[in-house]
Amino acid sequence: MRSLTGEAILRAGGLSLGDVDLMVACPPCQGFSLLGRRDPEDERNDLFQEAVRFALDIGPTVLVVENVPGILSFEDGTAVEELRDSLETEGYETDLWDLNAADYGVAQSRRRIFIVAADGVPLPDPPAALRRPSPTVWDAIADLPQATRRTRPPTTSEFQYRSNPKSAYARALRGRRAGVANCEVTHHSPEMVRRFAALGPGEIDKPTHHRRLRPDKPASTITAGTRSRTACRPIHPYRDRVLTVREGARLAGFPDWYRFPATISAAWEEIGNCVPPPLAEQVFVQLKETATSGRKPLWTVDAPRPVPASRYVQPGPPNWTERRLRIVVRRLSQQYGDPRHHNKDDPLDELIFIILSGKTSEESYLRTFDALKSRFPTWVDLLSSLPGEVERLISPGGLGRKKGNQIRRLLQAVSEGQGKADLGYLRSMNTNEVEDFLVSLPGVGLKSAKCVTMYSLGRRSFPVDTHVRRVLTRLGMVAISRLDDRAQDHLESVVPPDLRYKLHVNAITLGRVLCLPAKPRCQECPVSELCEFSRVRAQQETADSIQASEASMSSFSSSPVTGLAPLTRANSETARRSSVLVVNSPVSQRSRKLSRSTFVSHL
Ligand code: SF4
Repeated sequence: MRSLTGEAILRAGGLSLGDVDLMVACPPCQGFSLLGRRDPEDERNDLFQEAVRFALDIGPTVLVVENVPGILSFEDGTAVEELRDSLETEGYETDLWDLNAADYGVAQSRRRIFIVAADGVPLPDPPAALRRPSPTVWDAIADLPQATRRTRPPTTSEFQYRSNPKSAYARALRGRRAGVANCEVTHHSPEMVRRFAALGPGEIDKPTHHRRLRPDKPASTITAGTRSRTACRPIHPYRDRVLTVREGARLAGFPDWYRFPATISAAWEEIGNCVPPPLAEQVFVQLKETATSGRKPLWTVDAPRPVPASRYVQPGPPNWTERRLRIVVRRLSQQYGDPRHHNKDDPLDELIFIILSGKTSEESYLRTFDALKSRFPTWVDLLSSLPGEVERLISPGGLGRKKGNQIRRLLQAVSEGQGKADLGYLRSMNTNEVEDFLVSLPGVGLKSAKCVTMYSLGRRSFPVDTHVRRVLTRLGMVAISRLDDRAQDHLESVVPPDLRYKLHVNAITLGRVLCLPAKPRCQECPVSELCEFSRVRAQQETADSIQASEASMSSFSSSPVTGLAPLTRANSETARRSSVLVVNSPVSQRSRKLSRSTFVSHL
């Protein structure tokens, strides 16, 4: 499960992102169950996060994650909180349903937790509880046969019912059947029978944890059994034995036609882990109605986008929604892991690092920055260095004189203004004040200022460099014709604050690795499915390939090499649709040796 991806699931089902209306996930509950060991190290506990991962990859309109009540108290409810946080961050609204099967017509008190998430549709309400008393144990099982004869395997032989059904509940589960399977009783030792016989309704046999059921109440929760603390099979309300599989199944609301696994222990495991079918059905009906009721297409927005504040930035098509951007950011984060690109914690270091990084390779500016830092323990030392020394150190990165002057002027301005070459005090200023101050320094533009606020001060800024610009434009999110300060501010305003850092650092990596200026490698790109450039390019390639096919077909039909008469219109249509006829393809080469009729059927 951990290695499977939502994309692989979609591909296997022939589906695309946004095609799925309803997704149901039932991650393992054993680690959370109050009856289990509740081991925080149980690695099954993390599997609910995989359910979230699948949901975010698949993009269902409605998602429901089912589990046991113990998940609410496990580690103070952290698991549920994390689950809801992750979904809400991705634009889902969430709700938590705590439902008891006994309120939905099941002869068992059995709570189940459903975390429901909806995107693009209103959150559904939980199914309404039934306004009638819950069926009792005896309502559920009175008519069932009990087979003392052993059969092999025990789950397939059918036995006649003992009597007519004693309740509407039993009648509904029985249907029109004449017989039912899974009715073999367990043969206990005389000692066990003696102990069971001593138990009144609701009492427990302490050594084995078996509880005798009350006939006039719904059953208490049937568990899959932990041996040390609980027994999965309760004791029959009137007989001195545990329930048969079918009696347990009736208490969980399984219809009599349902066949359990061949072994009795596996059958009880299924009963002990189930969401009772009548409850599951009502939850499903409720969710299905919401999930399929006028779903908005995945990329649709309600309101028109705001007019851009910069004339150099034009918004993309209306289907470029925040949801789509979040999927892009998540995929890029998965691929590249939000790298820091060696940027510096100290604001002044960061400014000098940015100056050195201009118009040179990463390897080169990393080297020149290290060279400066090891030569000058403090930036004040640089100000008192010999003329030309700084330039010599940084010249391997190119533009040595220009960058050297820039650094000197910057350090002088900082030192004169503050009395020291240090910008640590910026941490106590708000982001706008910091940006205003930084752009007042010589040679510092708004993009550099935003890099300082983002990388060094941890603010939610969004600097746009040439890579980010190229990636956003190709994705189709915005069209950026010029990167002036207003464009920087505007782009920051259209990216939700929690996405800014991730989008910035990962778009830079994408721009350096795959979304190259001249030849983007779209086939390897994790966001190609969401990219306008890639979509248009694929369309163009398809059109070109069809055109090539047609050109090839027409040259083939008139070619003296083939010696064939021109193809009929019908055959020509077949060829157009097949698009396998390409010049020099194995088919066309081989076909030269075939008769015309063989060739046409080959197409
Ligand atoms: S699909 Fe191609 S053009 Fe689009 S972002 Fe990826 S590499 Fe760039």
